[in-house]
Amino acid sequence: TATRARTKVTAIPGDGIGPEVMRATQQVLAAAGAEVEWEEALAGAEAFRRGIAAGAPQETLDSIARTGVVLKGPLETPVGYGEKSANVALRKTFEMYGNVRPVRELPGIRTPFSGRGVDFVVVRENVEDVYAGIEHMQTPGVAQCLKLITEVGCERITRLAAAVAQAEGRRKVTVATKANIMKLTEGMLKRIGEQVLAEYPGLQHEHMIVDNCAHQMVIRPEQFDVTVMTNMNGDILSDLAAGLVGGLGVAPSANLGDEAAMFEAVHGSAPQIAGKGVANPTALLLSALMMLRHIGDFATARRIEHALYVTLEEGKDLTGDIAREGEGVPTAVYVERIIANLG
Ligand code: NAD
Repeated sequence: TATRARTKVTAIPGDGIGPEVMRATQQVLAAAGAEVEWEEALAGAEAFRRGIAAGAPQETLDSIARTGVVLKGPLETPVGYGEKSANVALRKTFEMYGNVRPVRELPGIRTPFSGRGVDFVVVRENVEDVYAGIEHMQTPGVAQCLKLITEVGCERITRLAAAVAQAEGRRKVTVATKANIMKLTEGMLKRIGEQVLAEYPGLQHEHMIVDNCAHQMVIRPEQFDVTVMTNMNGDILSDLAAGLVGGLGVAPSANLGDEAAMFEAVHGSAPQIAGKGVANPTALLLSALMMLRHIGDFATARRIEHALYVTLEEGKDLTGDIAREGEGVPTAVYVERIIANLG
């Protein structure tokens, strides 16, 4: 029997559909024999209710500091008032400066782009830009927000993009910015990005104005390989990119830093369907596969990926968001099907 040590992973079920998709994902990992030991931790709405301003209690931060690896469900962010986002707090506390979002066509998921071989990665800077949340009212009728970009931040996100390209045998890195208008801030990523990428002779690189990049992603998405962007541009374009290959229900991501790595679905807490047992766990499951590869459990990741692809390809027992009209099944039935397909 296996003597391999289990890797401790902090599991944050989160809000809304979070606990449902987390349970589903953990069931599949357990059935596949993933060598993972979960440390469950709190963050999000319940933490805010308990008056914890950052949205994550100290025990949660301690657990992440111990394990260095997190699988996380969506956390609700109070919109437009008081509290800051618990997600942003976690990313910033552990300096998870890189958000990596693979955008790949999945078997059986029909989209207007099916069959074109869409397969690229969006690398988004995760801790700088206007998301530092430094805003104030200049006068009662004028709001101001600070856009913070550093050379260090531009260099490390570009190096991460290059590392992703190299690790996956990809050829090209596209730096997408609004350098034509914001010459100092966005221009810094263009300038540093071009400098840094020149050090990687094995990689082609190009610069694209980010609005054209949005256009190109829709017109000819197959041209992209790895893209790198500042925080807000990357936030918006990675959601667009998720839409190309089946939407939020199937879009995974990784938040990477030197101290910790946090894997999560791109989607939010979907309050409209929370508690109904119909949420699609695929995005979190794909995030968990990125996590398994991060901790070196390649065999289990491959086995689950295969079972998932077979399930999607068969097209039976899928959740409502990806099933044929009127054929959606509960999360639990979909999970049973994936587990059965583990063989
Ligand atoms: P959302 O992603 O929760 O929902 C958008 C749409 O997609 C809804 O129609 C929803 O039902 C559907 N959807 C999302 N995930 C699905 C799934 N797994 N299966 C089936 N359908 C799914 O976006 P929103 O409504 O803008 O945000 C809701 C809350 O989530 C907000 O509080 C927001 O701040 C938070 N949020 C958190 C994260 C995160 O934790 N990383 C990310 C985005 C939004």
